Amino acid sequence: METKKEKKTNIFIIDDKPKNIQVAVNILQEDNYKFFVSTSGKNVVSKIRDIDVDLILLDVMMPGINGYEVFMDLQKDQKTNDIPIIFLTAVTDSESVIRAFDLGAVDYITKPFHPKELKARVKTHLKLRQTLKELKEKNVLLEVLSTKDALTNLYNRRFIEDSLKRDFFKSQRYKTPLSCIMIDIDNFKFINDTYGHQIGDMVLKDIGKLLLTSSRKTDLCGRYGGEEFLIIVQQELENAAQFAEKLVKIIRNYSFVYKDINLNITVSIGIASFNEEIKDQDELVKFADDALYNAKKQGKDRFEKHNRLEYEDFKI
Ligand code: GH3
Ligand code: MG
Ligand code: MG
Repeated sequence: METKKEKKTNIFIIDDKPKNIQVAVNILQEDNYKFFVSTSGKNVVSKIRDIDVDLILLDVMMPGINGYEVFMDLQKDQKTNDIPIIFLTAVTDSESVIRAFDLGAVDYITKPFHPKELKARVKTHLKLRQTLKELKEKNVLLEVLSTKDALTNLYNRRFIEDSLKRDFFKSQRYKTPLSCIMIDIDNFKFINDTYGHQIGDMVLKDIGKLLLTSSRKTDLCGRYGGEEFLIIVQQELENAAQFAEKLVKIIRNYSFVYKDINLNITVSIGIASFNEEIKDQDELVKFADDALYNAKKQGKDRFEKHNRLEYEDFKI
């Protein structure tokens, strides 16, 4: 039976001279290294993209496609663009070296190889790669554990959903009022397309601030998705609707000024409130989303309450 082995370190060597490859492999040989080789720069990306390659040694001077071209192909592909690449070069003129670094190579090694140097450089870059990988994994974990959205500093979706679940149980048990206010920026794609993503991000931040400063401390205000926000309030539908009305007006009347750009932004809002017939918090969110959809359909810049029987239209 095959036992699960520790993952090998995969090193890909590209050099048009098989002898050079052989020399490098002989020098680098270690138990946990696995070598993949190619004597041409042709189709390198497709050869590499399905192997989990940790490091590439890439010859610069090759007939047909040279090392720089291979490098650029590797950069274009999402699966290969973060693999560290060390150029192997017989030429040591500073222009070639600078070009290699300009492109983004992590290092270069001159031929003929000095065995100790080759070994040391490869080890260093593999260690660096490993450290970066671990750092990335930790960052992903931190993001998952964090409760705040990085852009707006409001609560993130995960936190809102957890809170809403608890609040929903509370309402079921103690019959306390609970409303879910879903807010979506109108025509936000147009803002991004016209003024750029950075301005879009600033709008998101400002809307976040406006929502937060307009809410009570007991409300829970979060970013639910791209340009969607959600506020949980411990209030009946009618009170939540008054709050939504206030929000629509505040945002409509606010001047979003970024240097010489002055924007008018509006939002649409959908509200749904707890009642005994709603099965769980997901359904409550869905109802708020349905009401929001209705507000969009009615012409945007307004709020709609979810009503089991009919949607009432509230024009302000
Ligand atoms: P509607 O009035 O119907 O809501 O239209 P819309 O353009 O606001 O909605 P749509 O869903 O078509 O587009 C939403 C846009 O929000 C598309 C997406 O690129 C953008 N977006 C999502 N997240 C972010 C972000 O973090 N920053 C920026 N700048 N834009 C974002
Ligand atoms: Mg929108
Ligand atoms: Mg949206």
